[in-house]
Amino acid sequence: MPKYIFVTGGVVSSVGKGTVAASIGKILQSKGYSVDFLKIDPYVNVDAGTLNPYSHGEVFVTDDGGETDLDLGWYERFLDIPMSRLNNLTTGQVFQEVIRRERAGEYLGQCVQIVTHVTDEIKRRIKMVADRRGADIVIVEIGGTVGDIEGQPFYEAARQMKLEEETLFVHVSLVIYLKTTGEFKTKALQHSVNELRRAGIQPDIIVARSERMIDETTKRKIALFGTLPKEAVFCSYDTDVIYEVPLILSEQGLGEYVVEHLSLKGGKPDLSEWRKIVETFKSNGPLVKIAVCGKYTSLTDSYISIKEALKHAAAHENARLEILWVDAEKVERGDLSEFSMLEEADGILVPGGFGKRGSEGKITAINFARTRNKPFLGICFGLQLAVVEFARNVLGLKDANSTEHDPETPHPVIDLMPEQLDVEQKGGTMRLGSLPITVKEGTLAYSLYNSSIVHKRHRHRYEVNPAYHERLNRAGLLFSGMSPDKRRVEIIELPDKKYFIATQYHPEFMSRPGKPEPVFRGLIAAALAEVKIKAMKVKAS
Ligand code: GLN
Repeated sequence: MPKYIFVTGGVVSSVGKGTVAASIGKILQSKGYSVDFLKIDPYVNVDAGTLNPYSHGEVFVTDDGGETDLDLGWYERFLDIPMSRLNNLTTGQVFQEVIRRERAGEYLGQCVQIVTHVTDEIKRRIKMVADRRGADIVIVEIGGTVGDIEGQPFYEAARQMKLEEETLFVHVSLVIYLKTTGEFKTKALQHSVNELRRAGIQPDIIVARSERMIDETTKRKIALFGTLPKEAVFCSYDTDVIYEVPLILSEQGLGEYVVEHLSLKGGKPDLSEWRKIVETFKSNGPLVKIAVCGKYTSLTDSYISIKEALKHAAAHENARLEILWVDAEKVERGDLSEFSMLEEADGILVPGGFGKRGSEGKITAINFARTRNKPFLGICFGLQLAVVEFARNVLGLKDANSTEHDPETPHPVIDLMPEQLDVEQKGGTMRLGSLPITVKEGTLAYSLYNSSIVHKRHRHRYEVNPAYHERLNRAGLLFSGMSPDKRRVEIIELPDKKYFIATQYHPEFMSRPGKPEPVFRGLIAAALAEVKIKAMKVKAS
């Protein structure tokens, strides 16, 4: 029988619930259990695909083309198991199904209500995750903060689950550390526990999220107010290396406590392999600077998978990483500070994106990388704009553009994919998910992947216009990866440059600590070579 761990959050959101949930999963996985996850997002959107990354952070794409919450990315990175669209549940999905059934007449004669119709549907979806791969333990993370109006049906469903299944409730809440007096303040946490009790849930474990490790007195206080033994209180404190959180919680005995309370078989978690990987993130190697030129640079959560993929690659190459966030709109306005960052960087990355705003700035950054021969990686929109830049400045098609921003362009080198032409609904209709790509032998891409076929995740509507393929190739742009039917460009590169590569797919979603995605590893390696050249030049002068 599967067991269920519910993870709730208190005081404020973005307190690190996702990492705590993923860490508990990692600890249990290291004990030999199979773990699966469900992230609940109480908003009414059916999925995260239509949300602005500026307010909600990145949209994480799963193999099966789900456009999901970024916490699924943490589950994948920590446990290295693929998530699917089923691992993310929203209010929108729950209501869509309940209303569909009501219209189909499945509830004929009944008054359809939050309790039990909506809560039953929530429970069905939770249990469906357990059935998917036959997991021993399903970790259900309820997004937002306890007390939110939106979350109520989900807390109610979770409360009911206690009567039906073996459950464990973990409450993650902020403990404020006052620097001036050196005190930990637990009042807000206490209130959030009370709020949870109002929903009928008594936590079995409390994880205090704090700047630093809480002291014994604070732990005792939290236990007393939480009606828990002191052993049920843990602390997840700030760390530079996020992958250290499973080690931090494990050292406090969280694994043993969970196992005992879910009457699972004991045994110490074996995190030794993980520990070795974590150590690589604390490298003292050379500093490598990568400029990421995008539109959402003031909320770097919009690029979380890219940030992590760069970190994985840097750790693997034994380098320290600094990301220089370059605002594409400021580049567009000619802001010198942004140009000096591009100059300072050892490599440039242009990530995915949508729409006209900032696109010319990104093209300028790509032009900078190409003409200065700086290592460059373009992703999705980054590939499309690299093609625009190449068409304009190498092919001489001055007004070349993507029809996404300029429907009237005389040279639509990037255009809508034909099957997108009559798409009317915006939600879930892009070319999505994992698809095969054939990689051409003898290319940079082949040397990175060492394979003639790879599977990567997609999320786009536009593509390199087939009418321009030949001209682009003749001018020196190499298509090193194509869809197996050879119609669709997947990877481009410039063989005469040190490292100039772009992908139509999103490599960042497949990167793991200890197993960096090859195009990121290649970027860091090429950027490191730049660092060494610079150092040699300094020495010589
Ligand atoms: N806007 C582009 C498209 O829809 C690129 C999308 C992306 O970067 N994810 O094709």
